[in-house]
Amino acid sequence: MTRLIIIVIAVVAIIWLLRRALAGPRTGAKPPAEGGEQKGELVACAHCGVNLPKAEAYDARGVLPGAGGNFYCSEEHWRLGPKDG
Ligand SMILES: [Zn+2]
Repeated sequence: MTRLIIIVIAVVAIIWLLRRALAGPRTGAKPPAEGGEQKGELVACAHCGVNLPKAEAYDARGVLPGAGGNFYCSEEHWRLGPKDG
C-alpha cells in the first residue's frame, strides 16, 4: 500500500514538474508595442499649413513630381508649391 502512495506522489510530482517546465520558457515573446501612431500621423500642407492625415496628403516623395518631399492638402496647393513668399 505504501508503494502505491509513493508511485502516485511521484506521478503527480512528475506532472507538476513537466507543466512547470513547459510553462517556464514562455517568457518575453512580446515585441515592443511602440510606433502606434503611424496611421494617424498628421502632416502640414507646405502651402497653407493645414494639418491633415499623412494617408490623405499629397505626398510628393515619388508620387507627385517636383514637390521635393513636401506634403500638400490638395492637388491645387501641390501645383502652387511651398509658400515661400
Ligand atoms: Zn494646403
